[in-house]
Amino acid sequence: MTTDCIFCKIVAGELGCDKLYEDDSVLAFRDISPKAPVHGLVIPKRHVATLDDFTDDDAELLGRLMRTATAIAADHNLEGYRIAMNVNALGGQVVFHAHLHILGGRQMRHMG
Ligand code: 5GP
Ligand code: ZN
Repeated sequence: MTTDCIFCKIVAGELGCDKLYEDDSVLAFRDISPKAPVHGLVIPKRHVATLDDFTDDDAELLGRLMRTATAIAADHNLEGYRIAMNVNALGGQVVFHAHLHILGGRQMRHMG
């Protein structure tokens, strides 16, 4: 738990969230400022600041994050969706507790 981390506070129950999924290592909840009809955030319960801070020992945890996102997509009957992870400030990361975004329920714009 990193005391000034907003997502650690959500994990600890000090801040509320609209929960989508939880297990021992992963929590998923709706983004407070959704950019699509379904916009979930999937996070490790353990504080890891960015994707760069995971190690080889976290390979299973990284897989759990991705599998949680696909389960949320299935729960919402999303035919197509986008998974995004902003990495570091230059990558658009604002909350420095690593998280996957899952976005769906509308046509995603082509990235090219
Ligand atoms: P980033 O730009 O770091 O990848 O995205 C952080 C995301 O966290 C943003 O989409 C923002 O709306 C969301 N967010 C920030 N604070 C909170 C909060 O307190 N609760 C929830 N549910 N989402 C948050
Ligand atoms: Zn944290």
